[in-house]
Amino acid sequence: MGRLIRPFSQSSMALAMLGLASLSAVCAATPATAADETAAPGRALSRCPAPADYASPLVEKLPKKGIRTFDRLERERPLAAHAPVPPGLRGAIRRVELPKGSRKLVALTLDLCEQTGEIAGYDGAIFDYLRRERVKATLFTGGKWMRSHEPRARQLIIDPLFEMANHGWAHRNLRLLTGTGLRDEIVGPQRAYEAIRADLLNDKGLAADQCLSPDASLRVPARIGLFRFPFGACNAAALDAVNDAGLLAIQWDLSTGDPSPTQSARAIADAMIRNAKPGSIIIAHANGRGFNTAAALPIAIPKLRALGFEFVTVSELLAAGRPVIAQSCYDSRPGDTDRYDALFALKPPRPAAPGTIPGAK
Ligand SMILES: [Zn+2]
Repeated sequence: MGRLIRPFSQSSMALAMLGLASLSAVCAATPATAADETAAPGRALSRCPAPADYASPLVEKLPKKGIRTFDRLERERPLAAHAPVPPGLRGAIRRVELPKGSRKLVALTLDLCEQTGEIAGYDGAIFDYLRRERVKATLFTGGKWMRSHEPRARQLIIDPLFEMANHGWAHRNLRLLTGTGLRDEIVGPQRAYEAIRADLLNDKGLAADQCLSPDASLRVPARIGLFRFPFGACNAAALDAVNDAGLLAIQWDLSTGDPSPTQSARAIADAMIRNAKPGSIIIAHANGRGFNTAAALPIAIPKLRALGFEFVTVSELLAAGRPVIAQSCYDSRPGDTDRYDALFALKPPRPAAPGTIPGAK
């Protein structure tokens, strides 16, 4: 599959059109505040929640099956205005090419996937570690996950260390969806995000909650600008629908393999240390299905930092270079995520008994 390299100026201009430049400008404008606040989460919230509120019991990591409370799609609401992704950024972004001699930037991304009929986990040990060590990350969050974990979602949304991103409403395979089903999966997380944001900010965009610092609106953009396809699987129509919804499609070039229970912490860390390149986008999971991720990050991240790597959000990475874009979605080889189609293919209708008319009662 062809990869297109875009000129820096073109991609920066296109990012600005999507409003992502303003997001990175916020990050650039508030480093001291961000560092202070992430060092002590309680301070960022003006005494309201205590640091203990951020602590996560191990049981919160475990997914719970058979719960359908949050399966229903977020109700329709008028959404923040957006423009379609312009030609220079359409397609599946795999990594970012950085200018020669620039800082060795990488983006850690964590998926918070949640399907129907379950409540996925929240791997608090990961977030405790990232906050303690001030490691930035981009969180591809299911809309349903945001609703079923609303207190956690609020904590993550207001934390300047983290960039919120869209991972579908209920982690469906978008290759198999069309029409309203496809649209709902794409806009559902934005609806959930805006509903939570509306509780955090008043209609002037200022902190509505006395526990938020006054500049909270700067850190809580009106729209999510990044999307990751569930299972890393797309087709041309789904890719177009995501881009038309004003979302950049973000894949990865460094897979940790962490959804496999047999992938040890050492193996995850080795994959990160061995394969990280400047401009890499790393995929891991924080929904309880990154089985050994929390133990792997404290091995990999100090080593990568010692090698000169610096962790930034995906938007910051994009603003620093030119995206490497493929025209299809895949893990390590074109076509390798198409196999997920079989998991979700509709069961064929039972054949009619001889002599009956199909469909008749
Ligand atoms: Zn996922």
